Amino acid sequence: MISFYPGPSKVYPEVTQYVADAYQSGVVSINHRSPEFMDIFRKTTESAKEKLAVPESYTVLFASSATECWEIISQSLVRDSSFHVYNGAFGEKWHRYATQLSTSTNALVFDPEELPETRELESANTAELLCLTHNETSNGTALPTEWMHEVRSLFPDLLISVDATSSMAGVILPWDSADIWYASVQKCFGLPAGLAVLILSPAAVDRAREIGEKKHYNSLVSIIEQSDKFQTTHTPNVLGIYLLMRTLEAREEIRKIDQTTRERYREWIGVIDEIAYAKLLIDNTSIRSNTVIPIKAYPSVINQLRMEAKQSGITLGNGYGALKETTLRIANFPAITEHEIQTLLDFLEDFSPST
Ligand SMILES: *Cc1c(COP(=O)(O)O)cnc(C)c1O
Repeated sequence: MISFYPGPSKVYPEVTQYVADAYQSGVVSINHRSPEFMDIFRKTTESAKEKLAVPESYTVLFASSATECWEIISQSLVRDSSFHVYNGAFGEKWHRYATQLSTSTNALVFDPEELPETRELESANTAELLCLTHNETSNGTALPTEWMHEVRSLFPDLLISVDATSSMAGVILPWDSADIWYASVQKCFGLPAGLAVLILSPAAVDRAREIGEKKHYNSLVSIIEQSDKFQTTHTPNVLGIYLLMRTLEAREEIRKIDQTTRERYREWIGVIDEIAYAKLLIDNTSIRSNTVIPIKAYPSVINQLRMEAKQSGITLGNGYGALKETTLRIANFPAITEHEIQTLLDFLEDFSPST
């Protein structure tokens, strides 16, 4: 089966070898306080910085999932209130988690077709943390880089945190425009689920230390303190970290990957714009994601597409939440090969809905 599911998604084929290496070299059984583990931790964070072009002053940490990052951020970086800006199901879910953990939250919910003017975010000024979803996996929208920089310059002192789960490692991110970035690895990193990368600016590290919240096993200050020793607060996903190290070491730098992602995106659009039975979910070209491409059609067509694709050995991503019946999502993630993309493009061109 060829998977275009936007997470869990296709894993790099080299992972088979890396898993075998981890077993044979004993990495799967090493102690997480050992020098061997500390070496893997250090190399993984260094490679992440190098290959993803993360600023030198930022800190790379590990968590188990993006969902865990939602909780860590509310627990450890917010005393009173966070302000959430979103247009889809993942941003909404983050807002819901934050509401359960923070004293107060506010939100600006915007239309997927229309990016808000940055001045509409003005009331975020009274909050301690602004929460953005860089790539909304449910509807295939992304926040443009210029918009992110504009927000940063409007709120120079506000901590800004960004869910980049389905874009980190697939496109260049404007790191300087925010303080907290995170992603789980089963999307653009092309790895099995069970690990997340959490990246902090110096201001975010300072805030975590200043608040000093230590009530949880995953309290951010404890994670930071341990990471200074290349260690973790608990027995981590050692295999996951090792696989991340190996894939990052073998990867091209993000500038190259970004270029490929965008070229492939244009290929997708070129074909989808021509088919009669379906169209792109998002019309506004300035807000379209390059890594998750949802298409829209009648529910009966969506159903037939999904079934026939499956018979041809292709797994398409189901629509998410309210868009389940009327959309399918195509992951445009780096681990997918050119040949696999061509297979799906041919399938889409040949498909005709029965009436
Ligand atoms: C997949 C996804 C999540 C959830 O990731 P988990 O690893 O399951 O916690 C959160 N946010 C976005 C934008 C996602 O795409």
